This record gives sequence, structure tokens and C-alpha cells, in this order.
Amino acid sequence: MSFFKTLEVTETTDKKSADWSNAEHVRCLIIGSGPAGYTAAIYAARANLKPVLYQGMEAGGQLTTTTEVENFPGYPHGVTGPVLMEDIKAQAERFGTDVRWGEVTEADLTQRPFKLLADGAPILADSLIIATGATAKYLGIESENKFKGAGVSACATCDGFFYRDKVVAVVGGGDTAAEEATYLAGLASKVYLIVRKPYLRASKAMQERVIRTSNVEVLYEHVTKEITGTNVVTGVTLTKRQGETDEQDVKLAIDGFFVAIGHKPNSDIFAKYLNMDEIGYIKTVPGTAKTNVPGVFAAGDVQDSTYRQAITAAGSGCMAALDAERFLAE
Ligand code: NDP
Repeated sequence: MSFFKTLEVTETTDKKSADWSNAEHVRCLIIGSGPAGYTAAIYAARANLKPVLYQGMEAGGQLTTTTEVENFPGYPHGVTGPVLMEDIKAQAERFGTDVRWGEVTEADLTQRPFKLLADGAPILADSLIIATGATAKYLGIESENKFKGAGVSACATCDGFFYRDKVVAVVGGGDTAAEEATYLAGLASKVYLIVRKPYLRASKAMQERVIRTSNVEVLYEHVTKEITGTNVVTGVTLTKRQGETDEQDVKLAIDGFFVAIGHKPNSDIFAKYLNMDEIGYIKTVPGTAKTNVPGVFAAGDVQDSTYRQAITAAGSGCMAALDAERFLAE
């Protein structure tokens, strides 16, 4: 879910009506509650910056929709995403981070202190750490929209429960798709993994896991044409590509359709002020968390289109806090 979904509604009215003279003024404002945001908070709090952290609508970030995390250092036997996030949050709070539920819907970064609206309330920040993460992408076909919440989902760990002993399809060829497919295979009777290329992009370990799972069938070179059903999903029509020209429709009976084709960074409200790539990933000065606006730092998936791991997000959150501390000291 996006942090900024209410932007269009609030932009003109809230900004004008906000009472900036009586606004709360903080030294370090952190937006986002994934590994990047909480790690930034641990460092900022220990440096006595008295950070205020807004969690956004998806408290804990994407990891709360993951099952087992096996590659985060310090957990030799693995840890579930939600437990990992609770642990990092507790560590941030232990040093005095003011963690708040709510979302930041507007930002004005033209001068310091920066002006932001958090849950409709004005807040001034001497430094800002953006760790808003990324949101799941959808295919963009009409039928997908029609069945969202009625058989179409972008989160297997949230909705997989409803498909016990049923047949589901997962679309995508990366690690997320592989992970969702194997997770769903533990619940559903059959999982189709729909991959548009003749190969999976997922890591070797995840590919092997998919292949070892007997009730996952990988359909290579298949593209989703239409999701079908009346009130709920009952099927999907795929186009099978063979060579340059040969195309053939394939119909599958399914009960659930899971989209796992990547993410879009949650950076929309900063687009006017910060340098970004064409997808919306915030650009940082290499080797730092600095953006093009002094005093504004970016960490985690909102600025990382390459690694996108919990541990790299946490690392960049640490960098952002250290950069903010140095900036404020100057
Ligand atoms: P990726 O960008 O890695 O993969 C997206 C996949 O979706 C690709 O296979 C892509 O196909 C496919 N795709 C994109 N658009 C469409 C479309 N319109 N129709 C059909 N297929 C489409 O995203 P992920 O979310 O899988 O992974 C993001 C990052 O997070 C990666 O770096 C990954 O390694 C990491 N990750 C790590 C995990 C772990 O370590 N446990 C778990 C999950 C993610 P194509 O290949 O043709 O471009």
C-alpha cells in the first residue's frame, strides 16, 4: 500500500490551511518503517537527534508480508519477517525513537526547515530521512482490477490462507514470484507459475526450491491475457508464445491469481524536489544517502533498484542517519 495515496485529495486544501507558526519542529524526521527506517532511527536516536518516525500505512514495510527470512545476519535459524521487524522496531524505541502510526501526505523541500504534513498535521524538520520503500506492481489489465480483493492479490502471505486445497496461479519470474509460489504450494493443491521468458530470473537457490516443489508447475513463455470469473476468479487465459510468430491461447481453471512482478518506489510526493530515475527511484550521491537537497537523505528500497534486500536497506538506513547527524552538526 502506498504511503501517499491521499496526496491528490489533500494537496491544495491542507497545505494552505496548515498553521506553520505553531507546527511541531523536529531535528530528524524519518518516514517509513521497514529495515531502512528503523535502522536509521536506531542510529539517529543513539546520536541524540530525537528522531520522530512515521510508520506509513504498511507498518513494518514489505517484510511483514514475508514468511521466513533466512539471510538476515544474526538469525542463524531464520526469522519470520514480522518478528524481524518487531525486533528492529523495539531496538529503535529502546533508544527513544518516537514511533508514530500515520502517513506523510505532503512535503515542501524548498527551504529548511522542511515542511511536511503528517496525518494532516504540519511538522517542520531540520533533516529528513525518506525510507518509504516500494509498492507491489500489477499487470495493468482490466480484469485484474475487476477482481482485486476477489481472487487477485499481490501478497501470498496475506491472502494465501484463503486458497487452502485450491488451485492458484502466480505471475512473475523473480525471487518474489518464486517465494510466493513455494509458499502457496504449502497451502494450495496446485500452483501454476506463469513466466513470460523462457527462464526464471530468480536466484539459483529459489529456482531449485521451485523445481523441488512437486505441486508447482512452471509455464514458461506464457503471458496473462485475461482473468476470468463472474464475482470471483475462476480462471485465467494465457497466451503461449512459441518462436516469433506462433501464439496460442491456454485456459486454466484457478481460484486465485497472485501478481509478483516487482515494485514501484513510494516517492511521488518528493518528485518535484528530488532527482529520480524514470521509475521513481530517488538518486543518492554514490557512497552516501545524500539526495540533491541538502538535509534530505534516502535509504532502502525507495532509492535502491539493484539490491533491494533487508540487510542492504538496513545498511543504507544507517548511512542516512550518520549523514543526517553530520549535516546537523555542520
Ligand atoms: P524482479 O524485478 O526481480 O522480477 C520481476 C519479475 O516479474 C521478472 O521475472 C519479470 O520478468 C516479471 N515481470 C515484470 N513485469 C511483468 C509483466 N507485465 N508480466 C509478466 N511478468 C512480468 O522483482 P522481484 O520482486 O521478484 O524481486 C525484487 C528484488 O528483491 C530482487 O533483487 C530479488 O532478488 C529480491 N528478493 C529477494 C528475496 C529473498 O532473498 N528472499 C525475496 C524476494 C525478493 P522478466 O524477467 O521477463 O523481466
